[in-house]
Amino acid sequence: MARTPHEKRRALIAGAGIGGLAAALALSRAGFEVDIFERAATLDEAGAGVQIPPNASGILADLGVLHRLNNKALEPERLLVRSGASGAELMTMPLGREARLRWDNPMLVAHRADLQTALLEAVSEDRNIHLALDATITGLENTSSGVTLQLQMEGEEQECTGDLLVGADGAHSIVRRLAKLGIAAGFSGRVAWRAIIPVQDAPAFARAPETALWLGAKTHLVHYPLRGGSIVNIVAIAEGEWRGGDENFWATPGDARDVLHAFRHWDISARKLLEAVTDWRRWPLLDAAALPRWSQGAVTLLGDAAHPMLPFFAQGGAQAIEDAGALGAAFMPRGWQEVSIVRGLANYERTRHARATRIQTASRKQGMIYHLSGPAALVRDIGMRALPPEMVMARFDWLYEDQRGAFFT
Ligand SMILES: Cc1cc2nc3c(=O)[nH]c(=O)nc-3n(C[C@H](O)[C@H](O)[C@H](O)COP(=O)(O)OP(=O)(O)OC[C@H]3O[C@@H](n4cnc5c(N)ncnc54)[C@H](O)[C@@H]3O)c2cc1C
Repeated sequence: MARTPHEKRRALIAGAGIGGLAAALALSRAGFEVDIFERAATLDEAGAGVQIPPNASGILADLGVLHRLNNKALEPERLLVRSGASGAELMTMPLGREARLRWDNPMLVAHRADLQTALLEAVSEDRNIHLALDATITGLENTSSGVTLQLQMEGEEQECTGDLLVGADGAHSIVRRLAKLGIAAGFSGRVAWRAIIPVQDAPAFARAPETALWLGAKTHLVHYPLRGGSIVNIVAIAEGEWRGGDENFWATPGDARDVLHAFRHWDISARKLLEAVTDWRRWPLLDAAALPRWSQGAVTLLGDAAHPMLPFFAQGGAQAIEDAGALGAAFMPRGWQEVSIVRGLANYERTRHARATRIQTASRKQGMIYHLSGPAALVRDIGMRALPPEMVMARFDWLYEDQRGAFFT
């Protein structure tokens, strides 16, 4: 695209999820004018929690987002792993101050709506970023000088051109399909039910400022308090069939009877927590093989569009944030020299592809370990009991260590 000498390059972003909003902030810092196109007419994040691990929180601090979460996010004191069958404690890992010291950045849990608000505030204060809602990407043309997008905006067909297109449009990415970068993610055979309840409705053990992970045969349960301990976030995952629901998965209601049936052999205290929920939502867990590449011409993918992953390491959003940090760094001008689109995308993919693929694969494996049954589960539990907390932390170093140094190599 022909530009005047002082005109900024234009990046187009499909999708205003965690990944798209973080990428907009990162690309603006790298000198782009950014347009985000979001299909939804309003941005209402689901009533659910999200873990923000240290490998993501440092990047959110760089992007001017983390301080906006200060009073709203909670720093759990530890991770506690328990047996779903007996309730017995299997393993603990210190978090809080010890996590911050070890991995340089905090391990946090937050309400998704609070994270989204923090990202949106930062985006709205950045004059180089423009967010269009009710704007669905329907087609694209990858040209030698950039990208032309076809959009359905407020009921009308429109076209828009840019130097770069980032497909941050989630696991069912249309950009991935239109750029012929790979096939869609599929149902993994596991269903997640999630809920938030007032703390006064939760049994005492679920009120502690910690992340609890319970492991059972073909099932597991995660809970942690949010918003200063006033509410408790619950995610219950079980193997099963997906009986359908509308496109807006987070809004698909769940039936308490299904949850209690899936967890019927569980310890009574865990079941008490599940019984305290009056409003479940359900979600099909998606998975996909790693894409051979994420970029084609001036188009690239980011977040779930590039690497949908099972949530067993709670890393999907964190990886989208890492992608955003790496994408911005890949286009940071070297001296006076602007980085070409082709070179920048190659830098981005080189920094991120292997790590995201490793986490995608490890998440799948972690799911198998979490859901073991019979003698294999017993062996797992004995191994967990034998692990001292320091060794548990060491096992997470590769995941939680600050990646920002690698973005600029
Ligand atoms: C049960 C569960 C628990 C999880 N827990 C965690 C956790 O604790 N920590 C963590 O880091 N991750 C977690 N994840 C993963 C995390 O939620 C996702 O990886 C993350 O939200 C992906 O963000 P994204 O921006 O890539 O995609 P999305 O959030 O899917 O955003 C994509 C956006 O693109 C828009 N869009 C789609 N198509 C179009 C189009 N054609 N035109 C325009 N816009 C479009 C959508 O409306 C949407 O707003 C969890 C996932 C599950 C299922």
